[in-house]
Amino acid sequence: MHLKLAHILSKNILFRAQQALREATRCFPNSCQLCGIETHDILCAECVNQFFTANQPNSFSRCQICALPVLRQSTTCGTCINKPPAFDATFVACDYSAPLDQLILSLKFGHRLALAPMMARLMAQSIQAAPNTSWPDVIIPVPLSKERLA
Ligand SMILES: [Zn+2]
Ligand SMILES: [Zn+2]
Repeated sequence: MHLKLAHILSKNILFRAQQALREATRCFPNSCQLCGIETHDILCAECVNQFFTANQPNSFSRCQICALPVLRQSTTCGTCINKPPAFDATFVACDYSAPLDQLILSLKFGHRLALAPMMARLMAQSIQAAPNTSWPDVIIPVPLSKERLA
């Protein structure tokens, strides 16, 4: 009983801290984490439009299952045709390449938790932008390799 109450209280405190952080971000300008110009969010609108897939739907085609780049005529890559994976689809918010890889590394390993709401919002937008798609039943992180887990 005490543990459950402590859990509810800690969730409530965390929720209020997240709200306060969001309000502070809106009130006080800061620097875009990629280009450095003044913005009221983590990234400026120009960087979001330039780097995130949901805002560039026609940049190149992706395999409808694994999301790796494919020729424009293809909808499924050769690997997924030859050996279908155990999942139905992959959604991509951005490519894991410079400069966005540094944002992801900062979130995962640099304790930059302020990046999490923006990353979640952009991932949700990429799912909404995908044609003929409903919300997934489950969202999971990319599993660790055996070596890293060890
Ligand atoms: Zn920017
Ligand atoms: Zn594929």
